[in-house]
Amino acid sequence: MYQVTVDKEKCDGKGECVDTCPANVFEIKDGKSEPVNMDECLGCESCIEVCPNDAIAVNEV
Ligand code: SF4
Repeated sequence: MYQVTVDKEKCDGKGECVDTCPANVFEIKDGKSEPVNMDECLGCESCIEVCPNDAIAVNEV
């Protein structure tokens, strides 16, 4: 399993992670990305690569 965290201070809410994540982990809520579906995370780290603000962390737990 993976723990996905979004730093809300850094997130600009433009949703690159939403568009990129193959497992639909993210949703935009109140203008920020939230990992609402973390159980489905594959650990591919595509979200980390695509985030322009370095707001996402993915850790195996
Ligand atoms: S690591 Fe991959 S599967 Fe997990 S949230 Fe990021 S893009 Fe989605």
